[in-house]
Amino acid sequence: MAKFYSSLTEIKSGLQRAEITVQGLVKNYLGEIKKNAHLNAFNEVFETEALANAKEVDDRVKNGTAGKLAGMVIAIKDNICYKGHEVNASSKILKGFTSIYSSTIVERLLAQDAVIIGRCNCDEFAMGGSNENSFFGPVKNHADETRVSGGSSGGSAVAVQANMCHAAIGTDTGGSVRQPASFCGVIGFKPTYGRISRHGIIAYASSFDQVGPITRSVEDAALLYEVMAGPDDYDNTLAQQAVEPIAISQEKPAAKKIAYLQEALSSPGVDAEVKDAMVKYIDKLRAEGHTVKPIAFEQLDYMVPAYYILASAEASSNLARFDGVHYGYRSPAATGLQSTYKRSRSEGFGKEVKRRIMLGTFVLSAGYYDAYYAKAQKVRRLIREKTEEILNEYDFILIPTAPEPAFAIGAEEKDPVVTYLYDIFTVQASLAGVPAISLPVGNNTKGLPLGLQLLTKHFNEQQLLNFSEYFHKL
Ligand code: GLN
Repeated sequence: MAKFYSSLTEIKSGLQRAEITVQGLVKNYLGEIKKNAHLNAFNEVFETEALANAKEVDDRVKNGTAGKLAGMVIAIKDNICYKGHEVNASSKILKGFTSIYSSTIVERLLAQDAVIIGRCNCDEFAMGGSNENSFFGPVKNHADETRVSGGSSGGSAVAVQANMCHAAIGTDTGGSVRQPASFCGVIGFKPTYGRISRHGIIAYASSFDQVGPITRSVEDAALLYEVMAGPDDYDNTLAQQAVEPIAISQEKPAAKKIAYLQEALSSPGVDAEVKDAMVKYIDKLRAEGHTVKPIAFEQLDYMVPAYYILASAEASSNLARFDGVHYGYRSPAATGLQSTYKRSRSEGFGKEVKRRIMLGTFVLSAGYYDAYYAKAQKVRRLIREKTEEILNEYDFILIPTAPEPAFAIGAEEKDPVVTYLYDIFTVQASLAGVPAISLPVGNNTKGLPLGLQLLTKHFNEQQLLNFSEYFHKL
């Protein structure tokens, strides 16, 4: 059994004292990956390459030239391009496609001596919240193998949960880093929209997509964020603000004002033990001297519909490029251009992806644009303004990450709307573009992990991460 390291700092001191090597770490993780192969967390393991890269990092540790992430063995979600490696977004349509360049984040991680051990299973094109929409099959939760990992970055979360790597990188469009992290008892952090380059990330819904780390400590989340974030010539949607180095303090923070959503405690749709966890933390925070107050959010019922209309509209446009000509799968039965498009897309995309392409095309079509797409844009504006208003008065918003813990594999398959409603608490930060983090708060009586979320103002990552460190240890 490979040792669990709670943070890179711990690994680094082992490296410095020459008690461990990066090669040794990689070997241990490879052992865990083999042992846990049935969890289906990886679409591919870069075994030989990871060992070779680890050796190089060991050499740099020895001669004192190692980067900030030396000793960090990570996995990446299968929608992140890594030059010379296959990338599938867990879709049949991209089977056999090899990245011709690396995403900016991969370059930045490697430049600081992270070792990438493999690419992780996810929902197809990051569409889903259970990892059951993957062409490669669902990922099993390590806490209970009959249950889902969450999604869409399910493989990334389970890889960290089951110690198959030290940390993982996911993407979060409407909760895909935070929700699987909460289902797996680890930390998932989505920075402000526009903080981390999406160059080389397979797009789902471009006005929402954001990269985020999945880790066991806040300190590691902060470090990975710091390395990945900041302006990039290849992504002009990025904020130009410089990224401040995050110094995580161990001191108790000054008294904060925290708002929590009243409905999270009153709604019958929220699991009783999730509510208990909220109450427990509200009490703890109050006992520590913070002001914690309930707030109402009238637009709550409109969040999920607005998100799904906008995300599907954007997806229908982004996924138009997968046409059987440019990338990956081409139907062997195709007879001409139209038939190549139709057959390749019909055979290459899974059911949920097709549903979203159709929904997105519908809401963008001439007769329905105003009634759906334009209206959803207005609702988004209202949600963003209301969120900003709350965050001008309070330092943080505290809400559950998901209304329930991990559900059984296969349980929600029949009704997509039920699954969409699971995103009720994660889409607020995505619609508003504000940073949010999911922190583990222990297990329920069945041993399933629970997570709570903290949201804060745009570009307030420094404060959010510092408070998270304190919250995580409360
Ligand atoms: N579950 C949400 C969806 O299906 C979020 C996915 C994501 O963040 N990539 O769209």
